[in-house]
Amino acid sequence: MNFELDRRYVEIQADARDFAQTIVPYAAEADEMSTVHPEVLASLRDSKLCNLMVPKEYGGRFDHVDPLAICIVRETLMAVSSHADSLFALQGIGSFAITASGSREQKDRWLPRIATADVLPALALTEPDVGSDLKNASTTISLCDDGNIAVNGEKSWISNAPSASFFVVFTRDGDGFSMVLVPSQEDGITVTPTPEIIAPHVLGDVRFSNVTLPKSAILGQPGDGLDIVLSTLAVFRVSVAGAAVGLAQAALEEATRHTRTRVQFGKPLAKLGPVAQMLADSWTEIEMARLLTYRAAKSAVDDPEAALHLSSMAKLASSEAAGRVVDRCVQVMGRFGLIRNSKIERLYRQARPMRIYEGASEILRLGIAKQLTKEVE
Ligand SMILES: Cc1cc2nc3c(=O)[nH]c(=O)nc-3n(C[C@H](O)[C@H](O)[C@H](O)COP(=O)(O)OP(=O)(O)OC[C@H]3O[C@@H](n4cnc5c(N)ncnc54)[C@H](O)[C@@H]3O)c2cc1C
Repeated sequence: MNFELDRRYVEIQADARDFAQTIVPYAAEADEMSTVHPEVLASLRDSKLCNLMVPKEYGGRFDHVDPLAICIVRETLMAVSSHADSLFALQGIGSFAITASGSREQKDRWLPRIATADVLPALALTEPDVGSDLKNASTTISLCDDGNIAVNGEKSWISNAPSASFFVVFTRDGDGFSMVLVPSQEDGITVTPTPEIIAPHVLGDVRFSNVTLPKSAILGQPGDGLDIVLSTLAVFRVSVAGAAVGLAQAALEEATRHTRTRVQFGKPLAKLGPVAQMLADSWTEIEMARLLTYRAAKSAVDDPEAALHLSSMAKLASSEAAGRVVDRCVQVMGRFGLIRNSKIERLYRQARPMRIYEGASEILRLGIAKQLTKEVE
């Protein structure tokens, strides 16, 4: 058993660190924005990291999209800027349906520009009345008299929506579900702002009113919608775990620097029993979360769908650990942990949504328990 990262992952980590350094001056500003920060996007393009998000055939770095590589990059970026992390992650999350199920023409049109971040994608699953319960989706596609299809409905809280060049849209299609690729310049699409959230994020609500497309806009076969969602989650869910580990590590480093130098009762805070315990528990939890995350990501490299329960465990464990860790870190920093838009305060707010998106913790637990009851003889 080898617990060290292979050379190619160490190189990717170094590339991610180089990119992260370039955005340090913009991070605080970008993380407060709900539109794309132009300098962060330009720097992401220069970094060439988005070539991890498509297969080599379409301008990618590796033959296949590699979940462990993405995890490692997200771990590094989230420690510096949630905005940069999200921009990077969305290049894959929003386009993977094309990689997995697109036609040659769809791949040729979009994937090379995803790899260079010249276009931004969006994955539109959630609706005003539908979150975890995706099978209740009410956005529809219907067949027109001329053989085209029409998309109707509303998607909400869609990352990248205000800047996306295309939407991959989960739709009800008769008795089943289909995934449709909708270029954002088509007639009948309206994007409006989503309410501002505690940790700003590039989000929008998208209305599709009789958006007419050729039938070839359906990704894969009609009725493949749920399988396509699953294939995206299988590759990308574990990357949220990577980001959560990076966030927790950054919070712990902030708290350690502070408590090492601030003296109360004649001693640095870090040497006062309960503070030391909170730091030690946090470090231990981060190491546990990182080990599980790398293990799940490595399994997802080999067989993403077979490893989905491990990815769910990693996402659950890491996002919940990040919540506990950052809360302790604020506590040990006392009033200095509460300063608005300080690094620790930003991390505190950014940890919270991670337990809700890409599978809320309760939903993940249901899936993990279901797998457990299947596996135990
Ligand atoms: C920053 C951010 C970015 C997002 N980006 C996107 C995006 O790009 N595309 C997209 O489609 N969506 C996106 N979303 C939406 C996200 O996917 C949903 O928030 C998520 O699926 C949860 O749905 P919900 O918020 O409607 O919660 P609900 O489904 O209403 O759930 C509310 C609570 O009830 C619990 N719950 C629900 N059902 C059960 C059950 N059966 N058993 C036990 N507990 C249950 C949940 O775990 C949760 O705690 C984003 C959200 C955020 C916060």
